[in-house]
Formats: sequence, C-alpha cells, structure tokens
Amino acid sequence: MTAAVNASTEVADTDLAELRRDVRAFLADELERGTFEPSCDSWMTGCDPEFSRRVAERGWLGMTMPTEYGGHGRSPLERFVVTEEMLAAGAPVAAHWIADRQMAPSIRNNGTEVQKRRYLPGIAAGTMFIAIGMSEPDSGSDLASIRTRAVDLGDRWRISGTKVWTTQAHHSHAMVVLARTDGQAGDRQQGLSQFIVDLPHSDIEIRPIRSIDGDAHFNEVIFHDAEISADALLGQRGAGWAQVMGELAYERSGPERYLSTIPLLRAWADELRRSGATESQRTTLGQLAARAWALRQMSWSVAGELAAGRKPDVLAAMVKDLGSSFEGDLVEAIRASSGTIARRGGGDRFATLLAGGVLNSPAFTLRGGTNEILRGIVARGLGIR
Ligand SMILES: Cc1cc2nc3c(=O)[nH]c(=O)nc-3n(C[C@H](O)[C@H](O)[C@H](O)COP(=O)(O)OP(=O)(O)OC[C@H]3O[C@@H](n4cnc5c(N)ncnc54)[C@H](O)[C@@H]3O)c2cc1C
Repeated sequence: MTAAVNASTEVADTDLAELRRDVRAFLADELERGTFEPSCDSWMTGCDPEFSRRVAERGWLGMTMPTEYGGHGRSPLERFVVTEEMLAAGAPVAAHWIADRQMAPSIRNNGTEVQKRRYLPGIAAGTMFIAIGMSEPDSGSDLASIRTRAVDLGDRWRISGTKVWTTQAHHSHAMVVLARTDGQAGDRQQGLSQFIVDLPHSDIEIRPIRSIDGDAHFNEVIFHDAEISADALLGQRGAGWAQVMGELAYERSGPERYLSTIPLLRAWADELRRSGATESQRTTLGQLAARAWALRQMSWSVAGELAAGRKPDVLAAMVKDLGSSFEGDLVEAIRASSGTIARRGGGDRFATLLAGGVLNSPAFTLRGGTNEILRGIVARGLGIR
C-alpha cells in the first residue's frame, strides 16, 4: 500500500495509518490496564460486552453505516484496519462481531425503516448483539434443506423448529432466523424468508453447547411455536435465500478468516526473541510470517473489491479456504517446533495461547462454510463442472 490514495475508496493511506495508530494505542492501553488477555479465536470466544461498548465509544462499530442510523459513514477499508488490529491483538470482540460484520449491512440493505431505526443505532453503540440462526441439526452445508417453519397468522408469525451452532445467542438481544414460509422442503431455495427475532422470548429455548474447551460459545435454539409480530419479517417474503447469500459475502471475506491464531504467532516470536531461536525455529517462523503476509494481501484485495461495490464471492471463498487452513497449520507448526505443552490456566501465557489454538482448531475449516464447500464455489467460479 504505497499509493497516496486508495483509488477504490478515496481513503488516503496516511488516514489509514493514523487510524491504525489510534487502534493500536487503544489496545495497548486496554492491555496495560489488564482489561483482557490476548487469546486465539477471540472473535468467536472472547465475549466482553463492556469492551465492545468501549470500542463503540471510539466510533469503531457501525463504521460503514450511514450516520442517520448511528453509524460513521466510513469506508470498508477503514473498518478492515480496525478489525485486523483487534484480531491481531486477540481482543475480546465476540459480543459485537456478528452484528457489526453482517447483520448491520443486512438490515441496512433489506430492513424496513422501522427495523433500521430499531436495530442499527444499537449495533453502532455496542449495545445490540445479534446471532445468526441458519444451521439446523440436519442442515449445515445443505442449508436449503432447513425445516424450521414460520406460519403466517396475519398479524403475527408462529415459528417452530430447531437451530444449532448459534454462536453467542445466549448473549444476544436478537437473532436473524432463516425459516420456510412457503412451499415444502423439496422446494429448496424457494419459499425461505428471514426474521429478526428479539431475545429473550418465552417460547424460545437457548441451550448451551459445550465445546472441547469446556466453554459454551454456541447453542442449540429451539422455537416452541414461538409467536413474533408481523413486522419481524426481514426483507421480502420468499427472498430469504438471496438475502442469506448476500450476508455470506460479508461473513466469509474478513480478516478473521486467517487471523484467528495470529496472537499465538506473535507470542511465539516474543518467546524466541527472549530465549533464542534454533535455525529450524527461525525457518518455521519465517514461513508462517510469509504465509500470513500473502493472505493479508489477498484479504485486503477482497476488502477493496467490497469497497468498490463489487461481489468478490469466488475470491472470498478462495481466501477463506487458504486462510482457515493456515490458522490450523500455524498452531500445529508452533506446537511441533516450540516443544511447549499446551496448557490452560497454568499462568504461562504462551502455553495458554497454544492451548486455545489447539482446542479451537477443529472449527476453523467448518464455520462459515466448510473448505470442501468453498472449493466447490471456487471450482464453479472457474467454470469447472
Ligand atoms: C465454531 C462454529 C460456529 C458456528 N456458528 C454458527 C452460527 O452462529 N450460526 C449458524 O447458523 N451456523 C453456525 N455454524 C454452523 C456452520 O455453518 C456449519 O457447521 C457448516 O455450515 C457445516 O455444516 P455441518 O456442521 O452440518 O456439516 P455437514 O454439512 O454435515 O458437513 C460434514 C462434512 O461433509 C462435507 N460435505 C458436506 N456437503 C458436501 C459437498 N456437497 N461436497 C463435499 N463435501 C461436503 C463437509 O465439508 C464436512 O466436511 C457454526 C459452526 C462452527 C464450527
């Protein structure tokens, strides 16, 4: 990034550099005050609503939203700078992550004026957290086979069904749910609609699912004939599939798809600086840093495409495939090369970070679309049938 002005967004590189300095200073101050410990996968597992509110006070949530809805009217590249610094620091951003990343643009693009005024200012203020209710027990990669049903009762909808892996639903104020409103399961993508459902709700049960690390970051969410008002419909009835695909572009394209374990790389580099590195460790460190940098350039290109108003679906799928493979490779390479035993809670920062990386690794290539599915998208994008 040597040009004075980034052509796709008209944001001067000097402004981006200044923003980056501000975010780093904020994070250094938070670290000094001991408000968080850097962790791997902090955008999924590091939930701290107070931290989110402090980020919002700086104007770093709802950055790309219009000011009339509480946003800041800034460029996607400025948002990219903030998110990559937060991730690289392992900061606890999970509370606001999904709402800020994809629900804000989705509500802005598809919502009614009432919905925009109701949800968007809270997202920008770090007080409105929103979960995604797409996957079901028998519908993950094959999302079009969902069975959750919403029945039109005139002045309200009645929703029945079960969602699963619903990240942070237990901390969320609302959940965007994909449900069948029309037709039968065999109609696949036709007849699906989205709803914004406020939480908690007396007929919606949120059951925590414990991960291998013993913590509960996601949930099973059961709709027991839950009634919601007619105006909870998001966008057009029957257009749910197209709307969800639009959200996935935001979900898959960000720097979180290769930076989840970068705090571990940084901590290892610190360790080696302190204790000295063998030739082989230096080589491993260099190889990981080179891959991270290449991915960073690719991810930045995706952000540039989005900033220019294009839909880089194939590029985003490719970067997510390469990025999420890298996240796991990084953990394994450092585990093997460092000889450290991964251990949580023993007071050793590096061993704790390593444990976080090891325990969260199985999820990297699944969430947001598995790598096999992403490769299918890339193949089709290249015209391979
Ligand atoms: C940490 C985490 C957080 C998540 N958070 C959310 C959330 O907040 N909201 C939400 O709705 N969902 C969430 N998910 C669910 C996620 O989107 C699904 O796990 C994912 O889409 C895969 O679906 P599945 O688990 O049912 O696996 P399946 O679809 O059953 O896939 C099993 C295996 O079969 C392979 N496979 C399936 N179909 C094909 C095919 N056509 N070609 C080749 N291989 C194939 C897959 O690649 C995979 O390896 C989360 C998942 C994880 C791990």
